[in-house]
Amino acid sequence: MAGGYPLLMPNPRRRAKIVATFGPASSDPETIARLLEAGVDVVRLNLSHGAHETHRAIVAAVRAEAERIDRQVPILMDLMGPRFRLGVLPSEGRVLEAGSVVTISEDPDSDLPIEEPEFLDHVKSGERVLIDNGLVELKIESAADRRLTARVIEAGKVSTRKGINLPDSDIPFSISDKDRADIALAVELGIEFLGASYVGSAADVIAVRELSETLGSRIPVVAKLERQRALQSLDEIVEAADVVMVARGDLGVEVPLHQVPVLQKRIVEIGLGLGTPVIVATQMLESMMEHSRPSRAESSDVANAVFDGADALMLSGETAAGKFPVESVRTMVRIMVEAESHENRSREPGHELSPVRPSWTSGRFVTADTVAGAATFAARRLPVKKIVAFSQSGFTARLISRYRPGAEIVMFTADPIVASRSQLVWGVTPVLLDAEPRDHDQVVEMVDRIMTARDLAEPGDLLILLMGAPIKERPLTNLLRIHQVRA
Ligand code: ATP
Ligand code: MG
Ligand code: MG
Repeated sequence: MAGGYPLLMPNPRRRAKIVATFGPASSDPETIARLLEAGVDVVRLNLSHGAHETHRAIVAAVRAEAERIDRQVPILMDLMGPRFRLGVLPSEGRVLEAGSVVTISEDPDSDLPIEEPEFLDHVKSGERVLIDNGLVELKIESAADRRLTARVIEAGKVSTRKGINLPDSDIPFSISDKDRADIALAVELGIEFLGASYVGSAADVIAVRELSETLGSRIPVVAKLERQRALQSLDEIVEAADVVMVARGDLGVEVPLHQVPVLQKRIVEIGLGLGTPVIVATQMLESMMEHSRPSRAESSDVANAVFDGADALMLSGETAAGKFPVESVRTMVRIMVEAESHENRSREPGHELSPVRPSWTSGRFVTADTVAGAATFAARRLPVKKIVAFSQSGFTARLISRYRPGAEIVMFTADPIVASRSQLVWGVTPVLLDAEPRDHDQVVEMVDRIMTARDLAEPGDLLILLMGAPIKERPLTNLLRIHQVRA
């Protein structure tokens, strides 16, 4: 019976999801199997590192394992984006002393040669140049003909290919040839999400999505919030994006570090209001790169991201290149489950949430959102086991999720890609149907049969069913039914 349907999430009690970056420490099939078993819901590949061949191999291994365990495991390909780096420096590096003046240009003989000189056209004197995650800071004194002079403010040693951040400069977003080739690879491999790095506006997010469409398939975009400029149009970006990421690594370089915790809360709140899932990322369990246990502060950071209401928490180096990839996932699961047993952010319709998106002006969106809110209300009043939503696009499941109901959300869909992508959404367990129901009786029959076969419910359990009726017209959700599972 279970044949055509995916298994439960590894821990059905955990509501927020885990995104884990796979790299050298997580590329062999056995480790991949253990990582998925431990609780990885979404796999991330960072296209800033590694060759296409190694990414292809990981994709193949993840797909094979997902098939074997009969579970939807979406993959997020994170694009490099407009990343600036130093060029080649002497192997011992270069020491920059406080107060000294250095030259920066394409010329390999300048003090700090750089590789992609385009950004030199956009920087101005007085602006900051940060090198190596902000460890070294320079202030530009003159900029002309793609040649800068800059004074060293924070001294330090720099070396070949270290990253450069320009938090004060107005650098236009661009999609490089590499990004384009990476998007083509994602299209070819049927990747579920594209990560767009360093976006500054809603238009940048849309440009990435449209390029994927031009190259063969429209891939939902995870907008990485990591630039000062993006923060100036946060609402527009969160609305334009399919998912957003609080990319704390670069964000903590581009904005003062003490602002990052509050920004994280603001972004999660905006995502909840607009129904855009939010991933909190970077250094969540960083010390587990080297040690089998996290620091106290990391343990609290993971729990607090859950309390903030994030849809998903991300592991980066911990699983990609650390010594304890599987233990990192297990640790994250334990902290999340504990945090969730404390906090239930169940919301009632009409409370706290901003209204549905201004762009969803049509009545059917408001109807679907109202029914989603009503389901949350009903699930509080009645001893309900699950909220079961029939969802063609995943939209209804997202609407329910944003109310953070106490009851688990089970999403029925006949579209494998929709099932897969919904794994990223807080509290949603997707179930892939092998056929769409044709009428109301069939809906009820399917729910009873599949929910009991999957151990998601027992005869006598109370469920809330959401669907669009009449089914033949494929409307958005407009119907809520309280249903008792039949024997
Ligand atoms: P980003 O800003 O895109 O997050 P990053 O360099 O911080 O870039 P992460 O994805 O956060 O990269 O991963 C953390 C570290 O893990 C990287 O700095 C790199 O050393 C290593 N890593 C990740 N993926 C790979 C890979 N595919 N191949 C080699 N090393 C990798
Ligand atoms: Mg990172
Ligand atoms: Mg980054």
